[in-house]
Amino acid sequence: SISYLNGEYQPLAEARISPLDRGFLFGDGIYEVIPYYGGKSVGLMPHINRMINGLAAIEIKNSHTAEEWKTLLDDLVERNADMGENLGVYVHISRGTDVKRYHPYPENVEPTIFCFCFGIKDPEPLDRSAVTQYSLVSTEDLRWQRCHIKSTALLGNVMHFQEGYSTGADEALLYNANNELTEGSSCNVFVVKDGKISTPIQDNQILPGITRRIILDSLKSDGNLDVEERIITMDEVRNADELWITSSSKEIAPVTKLDGQPVGNGEVGEIWEQAFKVYTASKFDF
Ligand code: PMP
Repeated sequence: SISYLNGEYQPLAEARISPLDRGFLFGDGIYEVIPYYGGKSVGLMPHINRMINGLAAIEIKNSHTAEEWKTLLDDLVERNADMGENLGVYVHISRGTDVKRYHPYPENVEPTIFCFCFGIKDPEPLDRSAVTQYSLVSTEDLRWQRCHIKSTALLGNVMHFQEGYSTGADEALLYNANNELTEGSSCNVFVVKDGKISTPIQDNQILPGITRRIILDSLKSDGNLDVEERIITMDEVRNADELWITSSSKEIAPVTKLDGQPVGNGEVGEIWEQAFKVYTASKFDF
């Protein structure tokens, strides 16, 4: 696989950065993961814009326009076409390599830009009886208060993911100190009750997920399903008819078990199927 590092293309296994890179020492960076199916991206411009916003939020210099980023990433996917039909592109921009380990933002240091491609799964079938079902455990969200920034410092997320993983679950479902749903350790969350779809409002407690955005926009323009952003309590989550987790790699995934209990009737919901069809029909438009 061919990686991109600071303007150079080289086999991934040969790419090298300094141990003084602030991405390595401090997790001081911003990242993205963008899916490509059959060479076509989903949400490329929204991903690039979120990345540019993240760089601005932590004052890392951005040396590329959105169009230049698009060209770079599309080109890297083309160079890796032999890796398979469906690829994810990982983009990582750290503040760069300083001359010593020292907390303040260094001046006159060039950011490190690193990108590589990896194989991703085929999209799931649009069929309730065949789709992969997820099992979650809930736990209090103990990450930081800037979860809207897609930071490479993922230890908080990794520890929550592991809480689920170590008990055989697929993901951890997170709630804040007020017992309100935030998100998953690597995904956003939607709930369905009486045919109404809702997802937590976009604030500093959650990542502004691109899949979440595509779902909200495509369902609103389709007009057949009722969807809103609002505060959702864990009591509502536990009484929901359906629960979904969403991300660039999972798209919309139905959750049928939470803390060992069935979600709704324990089967994949019909609103999931309708929403996934709408999403699938328009995902390449974003
Ligand atoms: N929340 C968190 C914490 C995530 O890590 C991710 C996936 N990177 C998401 C939500 C989903 O975001 P997206 O739809 O942009 O992949």
